[in-house]
Amino acid sequence: MNKVTILEDWCKGCGLCVRACPKAVLAISTTHLNKKGYYPAEVANPEACIACAACARTCPDTAIEIEK
Ligand code: SF4
Ligand code: SF4
Repeated sequence: MNKVTILEDWCKGCGLCVRACPKAVLAISTTHLNKKGYYPAEVANPEACIACAACARTCPDTAIEIEK
């Protein structure tokens, strides 16, 4: 099963991964802050992930892990 994981406390909420994803899997949280004080990316639509890794390649903070 494809699985995308956000390492939340590494994330600075820049949104690049949300824009990079072709399947609208990711979203920026509107409800909670991470330890750094940012609204982090979260996995809003996990079933849609195709494990293409576009999000992980885009993330400047290596905060995304992909498992196939
Ligand atoms: S691996 Fe691809 S489909 Fe899955 S969340 Fe990242 S960009 Fe979207
Ligand atoms: S690209 Fe990385 S730092 Fe930016 S919102 Fe996504 S997970 Fe967070």
